[in-house]
Parts: sequence; structure tokens; C-alpha cells
Amino acid sequence: MESLDKMAPVDERPVVVAGLGPSGAVLALALARADIPVLVLEKDSTVAADLRASTFHPPTLDILAAIDTSLTSTMVQMGLKADRYQYRDRVSDETATFDLSLLAGETQFPFRLQLEQYELTRLIQKLLEKSDCAQILFGHELVGFKECEDHVQILVRTDERDIELAGSFLIGCDGARSKVRKETGLVFEGFTYKEKFLVIGTDFPFEQIFADFSYVNYVSDPEEWCVILRTEKTWRVLFPTPKNGVGDDAFFLSEQFVQERLQHLHKIEGDYSIRYKSLYTVNQRVAQRFYDGRIVLVGDACHINNPLGGMGMNGGIHDAYDLASRLIRVIRGEANYVTEFEKYDLVRRSLASRFVQEHTIANKAVMESTDPDIQKSRQAHLMKTAADPILAKEFMMERSMINSVRETMGKI
Ligand SMILES: Cc1cc2nc3c(=O)[nH]c(=O)nc-3n(C[C@H](O)[C@H](O)[C@H](O)COP(=O)(O)OP(=O)(O)OC[C@H]3O[C@@H](n4cnc5c(N)ncnc54)[C@H](O)[C@@H]3O)c2cc1C
Repeated sequence: MESLDKMAPVDERPVVVAGLGPSGAVLALALARADIPVLVLEKDSTVAADLRASTFHPPTLDILAAIDTSLTSTMVQMGLKADRYQYRDRVSDETATFDLSLLAGETQFPFRLQLEQYELTRLIQKLLEKSDCAQILFGHELVGFKECEDHVQILVRTDERDIELAGSFLIGCDGARSKVRKETGLVFEGFTYKEKFLVIGTDFPFEQIFADFSYVNYVSDPEEWCVILRTEKTWRVLFPTPKNGVGDDAFFLSEQFVQERLQHLHKIEGDYSIRYKSLYTVNQRVAQRFYDGRIVLVGDACHINNPLGGMGMNGGIHDAYDLASRLIRVIRGEANYVTEFEKYDLVRRSLASRFVQEHTIANKAVMESTDPDIQKSRQAHLMKTAADPILAKEFMMERSMINSVRETMGKI
């Protein structure tokens, strides 16, 4: 077995980050910008271009700008600015429109930025590749580790060989099925929804069908709710599959099922042109603890939730920024890692359980209710809130995660 341990003297061992998704990328960039050596292990050979998060909330953009303003400038040029978002009732056609410009003064970015998450990761990859402090190893899968007194010994597998290397700390940014979390034995508490989420990309011009349509729309319907989003590339529609267990994955991904969903949403002559479709299992889970000795978890590795409200990737980026500031203090000798990781666990885990889980579970429950009275009162409440600038601002400060970022990290 080859050893990369020689790569750095003991006191300069890099922070090892497992996983180059949005969380790992942001953490690595924040460390590299503070001249902290960081080594990123990514099991795949490139950044995964799968279609997942597409909404960056205002405080996430504030955080990214605090790390590197060139990053957010490029993102804003590449993405679409959603300056409002809407809750629509398909029966009455009533629409509650939340105007994000009410957040001007609270954030540099009073809009939701619609951009595929992999575009962020690719941009950061380029920045890391130019940095003297960072190294990315693609095709390197973390397969095991052992905590030692002053470092973590890590076992990595490539197609050709196994490698052993040492890091000052190991940060698991390796997603929902995190090997790092599993190896620490920390339980991933929570539940899995019975239904799955079907995501469909289509070129159909929804903006020409629905009046005054925004780039982000939560659509309620007594028979089938959905979310319609515009990314910088295409329209994307998210539907739940039936909860009654009728049908399997192949059926839910069949042309017939996909076309029926879209035709129910809006009837057209002939078929919709489909650019892609995928099916996701949806969980609500939070790890029992976010660290174990010198090993820390970030992002989906320690909390996952349904995508309604767009809090998964955004929350992971907030974790990464919070942890980076702690690691920087620890590595500069200004703080003790045990105390910092305990605080990280306390702050981020309570936020994931209390704020993100509560909001996302409630968002889904409200969207999926088929009771006409509940739907009517929900829509009336949203419209009243959206129409009152004070109430609307309060609602958006919470839902766009500005309050949670301020509560935990202060004003960015
Ligand atoms: C349909 C859908 C829509 C979504 N929409 C939104 C949204 O609008 N807003 C939002 O905030 N969130 C959204 N999310 C959630 C969001 O996609 C995730 O929260 C986000 O990807 C988490 O980022 P991460 O970096 O923590 O993990 P991941 O993105 O899963 O990245 C983990 C990385 O680790 C690598 N890896 C795994 N194991 C190893 C190993 N052993 N060694 C080395 N590398 C490894 C993987 O290859 C991967 O690159 C959505 C999710 C879905 C499914």
C-alpha cells in the first residue's frame, strides 16, 4: 500500500474533506482562502452533474460572496434571478406572490438565484485548482479511517491501488449515504416518506400559459400538487408519486406516467417534450451527533430533508461556512477543537432538527392536503401575508433562511 503521509510535516497535515459536492467544495474553498492546507477526496472522476438543488437563497449568496466575491459575480451572471416566488391554487387560480425585493437592506442579494448546484461545484473546483493550499483527488474513494492522537489516518481506494494518508481532521461531506457517518456509528435518526418525488425537465414554455408566472412556483391542487421551477437551463416540474404503493420505479419513470402528470397540470395537443426525468426517495433525517473526535459531518452527511423550500444544499453550505471559521481558529491555535466541534454540533444540529426539519415537513404537509377547506384557508393566509409588506418580509426572512443564519452566525 502506498502512503501519502510524507506529503506534509505533522503540523501541516491538511484537513481532509471527503466529497466534492456543494458542502465539501464550499468548506475547502473557505479553508484555502484562509491559507489552510486542504485535501479533497472525490470518489467520482468528475463533479456529478445530477439535477438536484437549483435554488440559492439570499444568505447563501452572502456567505459565498464573503468567501470569494468573484464566485458570486459569476454565479449571478450564469443563473436566473427569481425576484419573487408564488403559491398558486390550481382550482381558484389565486396566487400569493412574495416579492423578494422587500429583503433589500437585509442582504446583498434580494432574490433567489436559480442555478444548478453542480455549476457552483464546478466553479469552486476551478478556484481550488488554482490555489496553492488545495488539492482535489478525483477517483479517490474514502473507504476507512482511524483516529489517532493528533491526526486521522485515512484509507483511500482508487481503480489501481489502496492509499493511506493522514489528515489533521477528517470532514465527511460525502452525502446522504456518508461512509464517514456510517464508520463513526452515528445513527441517522428520522424517517423515509412512502411516496417518491418525480422530477421532470421539459422545454415547454409554462410562462406563456400561466399569467404572471415566476421562476419558482408551489402549486396546490386537490388531486396532485407540484412545484414548477425554472433553472437557467430548463423548466423543471416536481410531482409526488402516489402514496398507496401502486406502481414501481419503472412505471413512475415510464413515458405514460410522466405524460399523464404533465397533461393533468396543463392539457396540450400531443406529447410534452421531455429533457430528463428522475425519481428520488425522500427522507427526513438528522444524525445523532455531528462530530466524533477529529471527525466532523457536514451537509447531507448529517441532515437530509424533502426539497420543498430549498433548504438542503443551502443548509449544507451554511454548515460548511460555520465549520470553516471554527477550523481556521483551531488550526491557527486560537481555539481548541473539542470545544469548537461541540459548539458546531450544538448549533448546527439543533438548527437542522428545529428549523429545517420543521419547515420542510410543514411545507410538504400543507402542499399535499386534499381537504378543500384546508387548501382554501392556506391560500387565503398566504395571500394575506404576501399582500402585507411587513408580514411578507417576516415570512421571507424566515423562509429564505436569513433569520437562521443571523441567529447562528450573525450578520454576514
Ligand atoms: C430533486 C431534488 C431537489 C433538490 N432541490 C434543492 C433545492 O432547491 N435547494 C436545496 O437547498 N437543496 C435541494 N436539494 C438537496 C441538495 O441536492 C442536497 O442537500 C445537496 O446535494 C447536499 O450537498 P452535499 O455536498 O452535502 O452532498 P452531495 O451533493 O451528495 O455530495 C457528496 C459528494 O461526496 C462524494 N462521495 C460520496 N462518498 C464518498 C466517499 N466514500 N469518498 C469520496 N467521495 C465520496 C459523492 O460522489 C458526492 O460528490 C434537492 C435534492 C433533490 C434530490
